[in-house]
Amino acid sequence: MNDCLFCRIAAGEIPSTVVYEDEMTFAFRDIAPQAPKHVLVIPKKHVADWYEARKEDDALLSGMMRAAAKVAELEGLTESGFRVISNTGADARQTVKHLHMHVLGGAELTEKMG
Ligand code: 5GP
Ligand code: ZN
Repeated sequence: MNDCLFCRIAAGEIPSTVVYEDEMTFAFRDIAPQAPKHVLVIPKKHVADWYEARKEDDALLSGMMRAAAKVAELEGLTESGFRVISNTGADARQTVKHLHMHVLGGAELTEKMG
């Protein structure tokens, strides 16, 4: 097992609050929530960022989007709405180099996205 934080969370080596899981994806609560509902969706397979994803990862990428929609449903956000963000690289302040999408909601979010 590598020393990637999110690989270790997906493997259950580091505890997290799981919201949703399927064969390709894992979703858990962010440790420092920036909205009343803040869930991270990751692929179980280690992919560092969008640029590292290959054609063979297409099912995994669409699976992440489906998982985000499933998380929104499970968290009761489908009526009120939600935001999906994926920080990539330095300017976006990506801190964990394992591809992830933030699902945010549960209150009206800020007007700004950047
Ligand atoms: P990034 O800044 O890379 O887009 O997002 C990384 C996210 O991972 C941050 O929102 C941060 O709060 C969250 N995070 C970092 N370490 C942990 C952890 O050990 N457990 C959980 N649940 N979230 C974490
Ligand atoms: Zn990883």
